[in-house]
Amino acid sequence: MARLNKRDPADRREVLRCTTTHCPVCHGPTWMTHHNARHLILLTGSVQYTIKVRQCQNAACSAYKKPLRPEAEGALALPHNEYGLDVLALIGALRYGQHRTVPEIHAMLLERRIEISERTVTLLVHRYEELLALRLMDATHLRSKLGRQGQVILAIDGLQPDVGHEVLWVLRDVLSGEVLLARALLGSGEDQLVPLFQEVVQALGNTMAILGVISDGQRSIRNAVQRALPGVPHQLCQFHFLREAARPISEEDRHVKVQLKKNLRGIRKIERRLEARPDRHAGVLTAYCLAVRSALTDDGRPPLVASGLRLKERISAIEASLEHVLETQKGDLER
Ligand SMILES: [Zn+2]
Repeated sequence: MARLNKRDPADRREVLRCTTTHCPVCHGPTWMTHHNARHLILLTGSVQYTIKVRQCQNAACSAYKKPLRPEAEGALALPHNEYGLDVLALIGALRYGQHRTVPEIHAMLLERRIEISERTVTLLVHRYEELLALRLMDATHLRSKLGRQGQVILAIDGLQPDVGHEVLWVLRDVLSGEVLLARALLGSGEDQLVPLFQEVVQALGNTMAILGVISDGQRSIRNAVQRALPGVPHQLCQFHFLREAARPISEEDRHVKVQLKKNLRGIRKIERRLEARPDRHAGVLTAYCLAVRSALTDDGRPPLVASGLRLKERISAIEASLEHVLETQKGDLER
């Protein structure tokens, strides 16, 4: 659908990579062949994603030159959708959990600073209905679609837009990106999740091997996988795991960064004053300003590189350099 108005720039940029670098079929190496740009609107803001796509290079393999997209992509949004699954889950919960009308939902989304039209809300309500109606009823269709693949890696995600809302559970195949089952449940207990897995197993039939399960490792999911899929390896999504483990640190770090930034205001003012002073000192000072400015815009790579700590490091280096200059000058004057 063409857009009439220009979209606001994304709130943040992120890169998605495949966590497995070997081919799931022949286990040979895969190459990163291209990048895709994808813009998504999530409850947490709009994100410009760079999706790094890999391909198996073994001409004898049935997955030869088939795109392998990052495992985490399917957890964010349905294929070809601009709005995240979390937005979809919220719309579904408001429509069917709280019986809100489309204009009401539209107003609530705008209040949450989600850029959306009323028409798109209607479309997404339909999407939500379709998603839940999928229910694996068409097992034949599914088998013919995944049949050539012969194997699946299941990923399960529970999306709860707000406390007290239903949780939208989505089970998907990581290898093909297909959504296998979606269900809105009031709870997230083991007893509620086991039937979801059983339903998927039944629909896949016994010709399809389930290589493994990926999840964020919630206790109830772990128990449900053990019960419904005994012996199937279950791996925690590395990204979720890392992000959760780093969450307290990330929060502290963000706070530190805000405090640090407060002390670094007014660079532009100094730069403007320097522009009017074309002597050799001004050149040096402008370079320092540039260093500060570049430190301020360096967002690190959380959770791996904390942005507040990175800023502190860079600012300390600039400070040390300035002190060194002062020391040298003092030495020159004393001499
Ligand atoms: Zn291969």
